[in-house]
Amino acid sequence: MPLMKSWLDSANLPDCPFPLNNLPLGVFSVGDEEPRCGIAIGDHILDAASAEAAGLIDLDGGPYLDVPFWNDVMEAGAAVWAELRAQVTDLLKAGSDLRGEVEALLVPIADAQMHMPFLVAEYTDFYAGKNHAVNVGTMFRGAENALPPNWLHIPIGYNGRASSVVVSGTPVRRPWGQLKSPDHDVPAFLPSRRFDLELEMGAIVGTASEGPVTVDEADAMIFGYVLLNDWSARDIQAWEYQPLGPFQAKATATSISPWIVMAAALEPFRVMTPAREKDLLPHLRDTGPMLFDIDLSVELRPAGGTSSTIARTNYREMYFSAAQQLAHHTTSGCPMTPGDLLGSGTISGPTKDSRGSMLELSWGGKEPITLVGGESRSFLEDGDSLTLRGAAKGDGYTIGFGDCEGTILPALADPYERN
Ligand code: CA
Repeated sequence: MPLMKSWLDSANLPDCPFPLNNLPLGVFSVGDEEPRCGIAIGDHILDAASAEAAGLIDLDGGPYLDVPFWNDVMEAGAAVWAELRAQVTDLLKAGSDLRGEVEALLVPIADAQMHMPFLVAEYTDFYAGKNHAVNVGTMFRGAENALPPNWLHIPIGYNGRASSVVVSGTPVRRPWGQLKSPDHDVPAFLPSRRFDLELEMGAIVGTASEGPVTVDEADAMIFGYVLLNDWSARDIQAWEYQPLGPFQAKATATSISPWIVMAAALEPFRVMTPAREKDLLPHLRDTGPMLFDIDLSVELRPAGGTSSTIARTNYREMYFSAAQQLAHHTTSGCPMTPGDLLGSGTISGPTKDSRGSMLELSWGGKEPITLVGGESRSFLEDGDSLTLRGAAKGDGYTIGFGDCEGTILPALADPYERN
């Protein structure tokens, strides 16, 4: 599919992340005004809440946009999702009769503050990138036992905390936690010394399920995707993760990009999962291309310093798709809810410069990386700003997500001190 032209010139540039083909959904505010639903187009945001109030957007069963989150639209189902895209396309396409009315509802992105685009119902994080799992497993258990015996058969996951998910731009404070001391028998309670990022994609469940769903049904339930940084304290993780998996190591914060890219905008970029060493059981088998060709990168900028791109990879490196993860999630009968967020797991490529965490990039701290400007890093330092970016490259256009940024604040001097 080629670029769909808008009357807004900035949306027609090949590198613009928000062409008419994209129409990602966010929640924004300007100045002291209340947050409201908006849709990115070019270098502007369409005030979708006002467009609906004015009758320019009129969805079956609505109104849906009189609240500052997109959950009601998700819950309305796929017919309403398609209706929304069709109506907004009509408002913004080149030659639209409604240009005059719509122009008055555009706000420059540069003037807007972004908020959480949806209420996270529940948050599950997976461990379904094979290069990442092999790298981490090799470091923790040796090359022979890198992948646990279940890994090639099910997407491994754990239940995270919805309350810890924050929107891009929210600072993240270095956590305290219980750490194993290499020299002593007793652990110590200290600020994490091995604080890390994880480059992931997040899939958002749009429609509810009761009981198990097939991979195809799961794919149809997914409303959209965001970039996701699963901040991780490796030293807390190493001490706590056996036998029930990560807990406090992953509970400080998880950052997401401010715009939900709807699944429909990613349709042209579908790709297959990689070749499998072992056949999946029938209920998880691939039924078609369910990954997406999305270039991903991580940039690290020290306080007052220059940005370095520390990793470049692609979402197609995943071993299990979000649809397979969601299908697996329901096998027990676990009900899924609109607004459930599924983290993909860290997305690392096969090469050294395509690894999606500092743990892998510095190989457990043994091989620090050198940043532009000469500083080196094994793990993240206070003041470091991390930015994830994602782009699917179409025929003359780009589908972007907006930056997923977070800056690390120093640990509190005493986390139990009360004012
Ligand atoms: Ca993770």
